Amino acid sequence: MIGNLIIISSPSGGGKGTLIREIFKTLDKISYSISYTTRTKREGEVDGRDYFFISQGEFSQLIDSGEFLEYAEVHGNFYGTSLRQVEAETGLGRDIILEIDVQGAHAVLAKKPDAISIFILPPSFEILRQRLTDRGTEKKKDLELRLKNSFQEVSSYKFFQYVVINREIQSASNELKTIILAERLRSIRQTEAIQDILNSFDVS
Ligand code: 5GP
Repeated sequence: MIGNLIIISSPSGGGKGTLIREIFKTLDKISYSISYTTRTKREGEVDGRDYFFISQGEFSQLIDSGEFLEYAEVHGNFYGTSLRQVEAETGLGRDIILEIDVQGAHAVLAKKPDAISIFILPPSFEILRQRLTDRGTEKKKDLELRLKNSFQEVSSYKFFQYVVINREIQSASNELKTIILAERLRSIRQTEAIQDILNSFDVS
């Protein structure tokens, strides 16, 4: 069985990283796409776990060699999703989460219309600002750019199939998990298992 592509977008500071870590504690057959980025590594981030941190030149080479399912410039840095990683994980029957921006979500949906798309919406602008400030990972200039970009990002919610409002980590992660589990139960995604059962009803 082929795994699903699950696109998760939110403005920076929307809390998608925390929610995703939370669902990994209890969901099986799920993996995470580790993007390539030209952004500088933050304190505490690990190369190959959070991102593959590469130079602009290396990023251009990966574009040329067709490595990316999609890539985009976000807040002044480049980010890209590895097609190879996505195919390897889904080929093993595991769902893969793509934590990408809205431009990337559009690009993936154009190529993979079966992908599941989820938008994580912060409960208010004030709370987003507070969360981003508390995170303390950005310099003032980068923080302001992310807040400015959040206006356009939140209005993109309508392009996504699902919206999870991240008021509180436990209920929001439960909602996220519920979406993923329900999508796995779509009849179209269970054709092989269903066929095996139907075959057992064939008494001829
Ligand atoms: P951050 O620098 O805070 O880790 O991420 C900034 C933004 O880039 C976030 O909205 C994140 O979802 C997005 N992003 C991370 N990886 C990718 C990717 O591979 N492709 C695209 N299009 N966006 C990404």
